[in-house]
Amino acid sequence: DHRMPRPAHRRVITVANQKGGVGKTTSTVNLAAALALHGARVLVVDLDPQGNASTALGVDHRSGVPSIYEVLIGEITLDQAAQVCDRSQDLYCVPATIDLAGAEIELVSMMNRESRLRQALSTEALDRLDVDYVLVDCPPSLGLLTLNAMVAAPEVLIPIQCEYYALEGLSQLLSNIGLVQSHLNPSLHVSTILLTMYDGRTKLADQVTHEVRDHFGDIVLRTVIPRSVKVSEAPGFGQTVLTYDPGSRGAMSYLDAAREFAMRAAVAERRTESAAASSTGDH
Ligand code: ADP
Ligand code: MG
Repeated sequence: DHRMPRPAHRRVITVANQKGGVGKTTSTVNLAAALALHGARVLVVDLDPQGNASTALGVDHRSGVPSIYEVLIGEITLDQAAQVCDRSQDLYCVPATIDLAGAEIELVSMMNRESRLRQALSTEALDRLDVDYVLVDCPPSLGLLTLNAMVAAPEVLIPIQCEYYALEGLSQLLSNIGLVQSHLNPSLHVSTILLTMYDGRTKLADQVTHEVRDHFGDIVLRTVIPRSVKVSEAPGFGQTVLTYDPGSRGAMSYLDAAREFAMRAAVAERRTESAAASSTGDH
């Protein structure tokens, strides 16, 4: 049994890296499915016009279907666009349709163009869905959609591919996060780094792993996601690897990563609570 208690506080996490193909979408949908298997209720917001997360979660995202596009332009609320995934009653997805492709330009002339997603992720809308985690899958750019995600969430999760040039572009990403933090969203921080597509047969993968751990320390999850054919096949069946091949190494590693991701926050929270208790305690 994988189940854990539901977390005490809702967490909103932006999954970002402006490089394409590093495992953002794969990590978003598989972590989401794993958290749901662990007993949480989870919403995935697909913020990439490609709609890969919607595909992997098996939800309808043909043009015209209520989607994150209608939410961002203020036509409908987030929960009105959420679809329950047919493979898990605890997993929801707000899909992205091709209509989102024009949004980056349409948003430019709108009021509060950088905080439309934050408005949409209202407590009321998230209470109606009763979700513990919201994971936002970003497109491979640092444009207005990714900016909306960074304004909407306190946490950023950065997937890093254990490959050549893994760290390329990271300083640009981090400096953008710093800018958003100082101007638009003071609570924004990189809470988690996840190493993906690790190939144990190559020396390079180990080098990248060490380099990332040296540089980022504790925020790097101990669990590393291996390169696995099952992980890459699953979306073609509208599934996450957790239902496509539950016993596979890919599935196990995402279950481990999700557990670690959930437990770390719980431990950090207990520390904060006991620190608060001792500082406000009897004198
Ligand atoms: P991004 O969203 O950052 O562009 P994706 O999650 O779409 O990246 O992953 C890029 C490609 O790599 C996809 O074809 C995906 O199936 C594949 N992939 C991702 N993670 C793994 C993995 N652990 N093992 C094998 N293939 C993977
Ligand atoms: Mg993607």
